[in-house]
Amino acid sequence: MTRLKRILAVFLFLLATSAAGLADEAAPARDPKQPVDAAYTEKIHKYTTQPYFTSPLVDYLPASKTVPTPEAVLGDVAGAPGILPYAEEVYKYMRLLEKASPRVKVFSIGTTEEGREMIAVAISSEENLKSLEENRARLAKLADPRTIKLDDAEADKLVAQAVPIYYITGTIHSPETGAPTALMELAYRLAVDESPYIKEIRDGTITLITPVVEVDGRDRMVDLYKWHLAHPKDFYPPLIYWGKYVAHDNNRDAMGVTLKLTENVLKTYVGWKAQVLHDLHESVPYLYDNTIGDGPYNAWVDPILTDEWQMIGSRNVADMTKFGMPGVFTHGDFDTWSPGYLMFIAAMHNGISRLYETFGNGGADTQERTLDPEEYSRTWWRQNPPLPKVMWSQRDNNNYEQTGLLTSLHYFNENKRLFLKNFYLKAKRSVMKPSAEGPAAYVLPADETRPGLQAELLRVLQKQAVEISRSKSAFTVALPVKKEKPKKGAKDNKESDKEKKPEPTSRDFPAGSYIVRMDQPYARIADALLDHQYWSPDDPQKTPYDDTGWTFGELFGVQVARVTDLKVLDVAMERVTDIHAPGGVKGDGAVFAINNTAEPALATLRFKMKEANVEAAEEPFESGGKKFTRGSFVIRNAGRADLDRAAADLGLQAVALGSAPSVKTHPVRAARVAFVHTWLSTQTEGWWRLALDDLKIPYDYISTQAIAKFDDLNAKYDVILFPPVGFFSSPTAIINGMPTAWGNPLPWKNTPETPNLVGKNDSTDDMRPGLGWDGLAKLQAFVEKGGVLLTATDTSRFAMEAGLITGVSTHASERMKIVGSVVGTRLVDGASPIAYGYDEKVPAYCDNGPIFSLSSIAGARGRRRLGNDSHSRPTGRGTVDDPDFTVGRPGVEAPEEPTSEIWEAPPVTDEQRRNGFRVIPPAGRARVIFRYADQKDLLISGLVEGGNEIAQHPAVVDVPSGKGHVVLFSINPVYRGETRGTYSMVLNTILNFDSLDAGRKDADK
Ligand SMILES: [Zn+2]
Repeated sequence: MTRLKRILAVFLFLLATSAAGLADEAAPARDPKQPVDAAYTEKIHKYTTQPYFTSPLVDYLPASKTVPTPEAVLGDVAGAPGILPYAEEVYKYMRLLEKASPRVKVFSIGTTEEGREMIAVAISSEENLKSLEENRARLAKLADPRTIKLDDAEADKLVAQAVPIYYITGTIHSPETGAPTALMELAYRLAVDESPYIKEIRDGTITLITPVVEVDGRDRMVDLYKWHLAHPKDFYPPLIYWGKYVAHDNNRDAMGVTLKLTENVLKTYVGWKAQVLHDLHESVPYLYDNTIGDGPYNAWVDPILTDEWQMIGSRNVADMTKFGMPGVFTHGDFDTWSPGYLMFIAAMHNGISRLYETFGNGGADTQERTLDPEEYSRTWWRQNPPLPKVMWSQRDNNNYEQTGLLTSLHYFNENKRLFLKNFYLKAKRSVMKPSAEGPAAYVLPADETRPGLQAELLRVLQKQAVEISRSKSAFTVALPVKKEKPKKGAKDNKESDKEKKPEPTSRDFPAGSYIVRMDQPYARIADALLDHQYWSPDDPQKTPYDDTGWTFGELFGVQVARVTDLKVLDVAMERVTDIHAPGGVKGDGAVFAINNTAEPALATLRFKMKEANVEAAEEPFESGGKKFTRGSFVIRNAGRADLDRAAADLGLQAVALGSAPSVKTHPVRAARVAFVHTWLSTQTEGWWRLALDDLKIPYDYISTQAIAKFDDLNAKYDVILFPPVGFFSSPTAIINGMPTAWGNPLPWKNTPETPNLVGKNDSTDDMRPGLGWDGLAKLQAFVEKGGVLLTATDTSRFAMEAGLITGVSTHASERMKIVGSVVGTRLVDGASPIAYGYDEKVPAYCDNGPIFSLSSIAGARGRRRLGNDSHSRPTGRGTVDDPDFTVGRPGVEAPEEPTSEIWEAPPVTDEQRRNGFRVIPPAGRARVIFRYADQKDLLISGLVEGGNEIAQHPAVVDVPSGKGHVVLFSINPVYRGETRGTYSMVLNTILNFDSLDAGRKDADK
């Protein structure tokens, strides 16, 4: 050793010990007694593009005589250029590890929508893995403090004995490709490395790893990468499908739990009683630990958790900064408001949620990357920012991910008694919630008019591991007294105060009402989903990261009462596990009626009982002492036993009638449905497919490209659904697709290199062409000849701008900000079949509109109107209400100006009628079914700013066009499994496709 080398060695040693922070913590350095896998280590160095893109934890690989390295499966080291393993290969390696080491165990945790396996790999000391069940029993007691009667001393004993669980999940986002190889190597290190730093983790903590969360998407992504390797000079197709249903939004499903991957991870997290859920992503250079994030924080998380975020996140940055790794930071612009992210499963179940954004190239190519100034600028929270330009490799990515995880695991393990105690405390505080901050419970009353949707909501809570009870008798609770805010000019308001009815002071609930008690360990998630959200327009955070409102009771269209009266907990009740709305046939007779309350199950029934003659009542009626709403089903030609079975299955209550009601009816048909997608993005329509599949509504899934190829769309379809596109969704993009004037075709089909690409979705030789003008003409012909086209948000804009309709236009908003909020809508035309089953007030999901305006003049844009038009009088004589006068002639009374509501088209004027060839005849005018509520009632949950721009404007419009209809939605009625209350607006359109004009009043002559 030369003098220089010795100084360097001392220096490195000091650096390493200082990185550990505390004197008694083991240094992050290899064990000099353990041999290194020299060949593997050499390749690590070779593929790492800069010496500072690594750390003393991952710049070598310890050798083992018995345990295979990732090279055994990959043929090279983890993060090697050109290598992306399929999920199956990752699993193969994990199972090789399991075979070779008693420190590794692999568990199957379920399958995906396409039937691929998901796994969780536990790595810990042999002793810990041997006593997994005993340990789980200890953790279960901490997770549910009711089992130890909230006894802190008993908890302390358990905390001292328990081994905590740190759960890591990789590659939920399929184009973010680095995690699987990083996690393979991490598993090897944790199993094999004898350095004190790693050994402490192994002996003290169980690391649980799901290396691939979105397994279907991973296999598609690897396919595409292989295609890219086989065609190195070509552009490669973008990953348009990830999982079967959704792409990026798979990380927004932790509220609705509609995807298998969410359900499987949730079950694993809750089943193992894990303390941390750490989800790995790639989008930000080089490692953005958004554990701490930015405000506003979710209002329902325990402050103990937000302190843990600060501790863990800050320490993680500190450790990696000391390694000299640039671009490691926390804070950033990710707010922690929405609980929809996968990691939030932990935050909502008394654990610690964490998320990394690391840097990736979307594949395993080593590439030069140029950053934006905002990415490499030094900010207060990013003192060692990334470099403006770097050569970046998948190995660099794997170095960062593993270093971050190992330092996290080590810090977590050092402080595990604290984190285990916190885990217990958070659960205990959850159990104490009713008397601490409240509420005591949420009650879903037994007299709900939508029992099917009520059951669906409760089943979501059950998936979230929330306990549900049912009252054995009727009960009454006291309602909180609302403090009146002193009104401005109170003296003038005496009149209106007198008219005010006294507020009720109590509320009765019938026997059989569902009670979600808040004195349970997972009360937090129920509270977060059922409560209302308020995002202030004055919040310093001006760019919400995701939705700002989600209140499930509102979006499911069911009653949910937030009860603060502690007496509710004393009501006689029993726990229920199987929640199912009651259904079947009652009464005698050969004609059956089912009341319509906009339950999606009605559509399922119609499609299930294909042979039955189903009609919809166009007016409410009464029969056999029962009241039926408009749109109720009248069923003939159905076997009672069949109907009874189907109705029982679906939670629908059919009543047999002695005779058919004398009300006007029209047929409800099982429409032939085409479901159109683009090759631009399938993100948002995926939620619609998921909903239709769940409801067993059949459809043909066709692309915009396919439309031009149909000779006659009407011969095949009654209804074409064109759900929102999401990204890249301008009307011109929908028609033109992606550029074809240059570049190569982008195939989306199965080939030898891409055996998994198509899955159960769609294929094309070239993703680039769009609908095209021929396709547009076919769509227009379809509507002209009597077809029904249904569009929402961006596809509604497309329908307008492509000229498929006339009389409806959109306005650009000026100040409006409605960011994924729950807003109020109002029923305008209850006689329209689209509105069947709905009440006057319907909460809906809105994300900035679009703002619709109507006009009865073809080609004119609807007037932009904010609030009631008020024409002030001109300057002149008299008081404000007086008419002006003209000197020298008698006064003339001006004709009364015709008025209209904001959601209506302004009345056609006499001047417009002169040679009025542009005046749309009354029968051809748009029919508003729902409108947005008045400005003061618009916000239900979330953020509404500048709401006056959309208040009272149409929300759902039925536009006659030729013999057919285009139905436009400004709200998104089908979204993330959260908006089931508005599904029936779409289903009603499908079922009544050939009777949409029912109840139409054409007032104008
Ligand atoms: Zn991501």
